[in-house]
Amino acid sequence: MQPNAAAADTIAMDLATLWYLTIGTLLIAAAMTLWERQAQAQRSRELGLWAAAYGVFALGCILAMNRSLLPGVAGPALTNVVMLLGYSLVLQGALVLDGRPLRPILVAGFLGAIGAIWLILGTGWASLLWNHASAFPIAVICALTARTLFHSRAAKGLRSRPVAIIVFACHSLTYAVRTFVVPIVVGVHGESVLPIVAKLTMYEAVLFTVAMPMSLIALVREEDRARLLANARTDFLTGLHNRQGFFELGPERLRQNGESCSHVLLAFDLDHFKAINDTYGHEAGDQVLQLFAGMASETAPRGAVCARLGGEEFAILLPGTGQEEARRIAVEIAQRFTEAAAHSDGLAIAATVSVGLAEAGAGEIDLAELLAAADRALYKAKLLGRNRIEVAEPPTVAKAA
Ligand code: GH3
Ligand code: MG
Ligand code: MG
Repeated sequence: MQPNAAAADTIAMDLATLWYLTIGTLLIAAAMTLWERQAQAQRSRELGLWAAAYGVFALGCILAMNRSLLPGVAGPALTNVVMLLGYSLVLQGALVLDGRPLRPILVAGFLGAIGAIWLILGTGWASLLWNHASAFPIAVICALTARTLFHSRAAKGLRSRPVAIIVFACHSLTYAVRTFVVPIVVGVHGESVLPIVAKLTMYEAVLFTVAMPMSLIALVREEDRARLLANARTDFLTGLHNRQGFFELGPERLRQNGESCSHVLLAFDLDHFKAINDTYGHEAGDQVLQLFAGMASETAPRGAVCARLGGEEFAILLPGTGQEEARRIAVEIAQRFTEAAAHSDGLAIAATVSVGLAEAGAGEIDLAELLAAADRALYKAKLLGRNRIEVAEPPTVAKAA
């Protein structure tokens, strides 16, 4: 069929078309969120709640389109309650992100109260309730969702968090306008503005039903990516940074401390560790490694970077620390480790550690060179009989800035 010129130039914002569009978008969002849920075991509850919410919204849209078919105010009342259930599920999902519990009784009580308000006031105030008052709880729940995401620890630092906050804040604002501003406009211009308001609300709903699932899925995916990255930088056995984490975080910490002070790198290697494995078994060897990691991270000051570089080799970077202080820290770690290995639950192992200390003066620092210097000192400590600390020859590593 050939559209005539007049029709081609006109954008007809037919309300029913917008409803169908919204329902389709919501059903696709629910399906995609359920699909994502299969890949995100850590966030399956949140994604399940959000997928359910989109399904409930779709049902709400179908009810809204057909609300006049139900007797009395049952149509608008039921639509309002179903829509509020959808918004409550979205909020619940945001709360669960931070480990907060589900509150089915609170939600049921809230929806019951809304239903009761419709029952009591619906006959006399149907138009006021539908056009204005029913928007208020929606504005409140979306504001709470935005607030929850704003304070969320789980979403902290994620790039998609501000996007999700803006999406919910804008939706809240739209419904606050519908509650408080539209009645004034209707008072001035009459009820003829209501169809325009309805179309604008629906248009915004179409945008919201696209932006909301996109931002929530982005949040979960980004969090998962951050978790994978953190895993790639962490040693599985000890929970310390691994070599990659050490070389990523180390230079960052050095930069934060500035180039005007000295820094120390301690390289540790457990003594005769192969013999410990051979005598007590690999499992006991693993326990000894974990014990050393625990002592190192407990003793090292804030801002230090503790890492297991491989096997039974560890490193601690002490930014902004002088040689004497670093030596004291190394000796304390070694003593605590030996004592713990001898007296810990199920262990009675004579374990010691050798340490190489390298100090870098002020200036630009090459972490790999500093580690090589600490390793040379460590090698010397091994040659001189182990269970001791040796300091790298000065000047260690300091390039002129
Ligand atoms: P030295 O005093 O000269 O350092 O001797 P050493 O026995 O500690 O050094 P060597 O390099 O000969 O042996 C290191 C051992 O560490 C060999 C390897 O099996 C063991 N090892 C490496 N990674 C692990 C681990 O994850 N768990 C356990 N239990 N052992 C490990
Ligand atoms: Mg070794
Ligand atoms: Mg060793």
